Amino acid sequence: MLRPYILRDATFCRMPRLLLLLPSTTYRTTAFVEAARRIGAELTVASERPSTLQAANPAGLLTLDFQDPERAADEVQAFARQHPIDAVVGVDDDSAVVAAAVAERLRLKGNALAAAVAARDKHRQRQLLTAGQVPVPGFALHQMDEDPRELAKQVVYPCVLKPLRLSASRGVIRADNPAAFVAAHTRLSSILAGCDTAFLVEDFVPGYEVALEGLLVNRRLHVLALFDKPDPLDGPFFEETIYVTPSQVPAGLQQAIARCAEGAARALGLTEGPVHAELRYNESGPWLIELAARPIGGRCSAVLRFGEGVSLEELILRHALGMPIPSLAREAVAAGVMMIPIPGAGVLQEVRGIVESKAVPLVEDVQITAHPGERLVPFPEGSRYPGFIFARGPTPGAVEAALRESHRRLSFVLAP
Ligand code: ADP
Repeated sequence: MLRPYILRDATFCRMPRLLLLLPSTTYRTTAFVEAARRIGAELTVASERPSTLQAANPAGLLTLDFQDPERAADEVQAFARQHPIDAVVGVDDDSAVVAAAVAERLRLKGNALAAAVAARDKHRQRQLLTAGQVPVPGFALHQMDEDPRELAKQVVYPCVLKPLRLSASRGVIRADNPAAFVAAHTRLSSILAGCDTAFLVEDFVPGYEVALEGLLVNRRLHVLALFDKPDPLDGPFFEETIYVTPSQVPAGLQQAIARCAEGAARALGLTEGPVHAELRYNESGPWLIELAARPIGGRCSAVLRFGEGVSLEELILRHALGMPIPSLAREAVAAGVMMIPIPGAGVLQEVRGIVESKAVPLVEDVQITAHPGERLVPFPEGSRYPGFIFARGPTPGAVEAALRESHRRLSFVLAP
């Protein structure tokens, strides 16, 4: 007879096993693996490239093709006959779709595959949000081989050209007139070369932008944090910089923003797990720019702590495993992260001033993720920030000022 295994506060007949879908190039590994360790779950890590350690650890490592979710689900189903799986978690746009396919197949908690696919495709997302009466910018789907000069005569300005399946604002370009449209089209066409034949043209929505981090629990959206983005994002490219929470947006508008994001999740059919949404607001109210069925990207999640210091990753894993969540309330202090702007095009030689940058009061950490010899590519072709600065403090304003001062002390030496 199996003896019940007590995992902190949930009871399983054996130690629960979590399948974590980790792309080969992700910053998320440490935070998720650490969270799994903290809650005491057995971990199977699946990624796209085979690991030489797989033979030595057949229950712990798995190779899956994240571009083929159904086939990945077949393979997980076969794997799970020997090593039963209790929860599956993806960490980015592609692995969230695979997680949904696996959850559907193994009847685990998660989103329907169709919902995850819709969230992943910016055109499908726009169609479903429009049908669900969620306010979104006007949009039209075009093919890359249409004549850009003809298109440029038809669109309403200002507009935004946008790839369907890239992320982190890569390839997103504002155009204010026909000449800018044609130039943007040329750039987008080389960014998309070979990987997509279609793109979106949207009305540019003016206004302020916020990012909402949330957790869907049985269809209900719990707002974990609303971040202000104090630097204007007016284009022509949309490089993120500072995120600060709590938001200083008036409470009533925050509620409208949360309702807009919840309506978007409903319209897409998302029901469980993390969501990250970008919204704008202006005199017409909130506008949904994008909602993704995954947590915040890069290293940014380190800025969030809940209850007695629980990480975002631990919340996500606890929710997936059906374990009690001690608190969904973010800590009381203000917190912020700066995605360090890409300092230019070139090969990184050296980063100066790191010690001085870390010494700024309220700054908790400065993480340089670019390495010497790495080629830095500015937006819109690139989207890889060279690092992240984290700060915590009494007010959002103090946190923002600390991030700016810390950044001011850094200098990046580039070679052409
Ligand atoms: P990605 O998934 O690559 O981040 P998004 O659709 O979220 O692409 O767009 C990236 C950023 O570009 C948004 O956060 C926003 O600042 C800006 N943006 C995108 N679409 C619009 C729009 N229609 N109007 C105004 N700004 C936009």
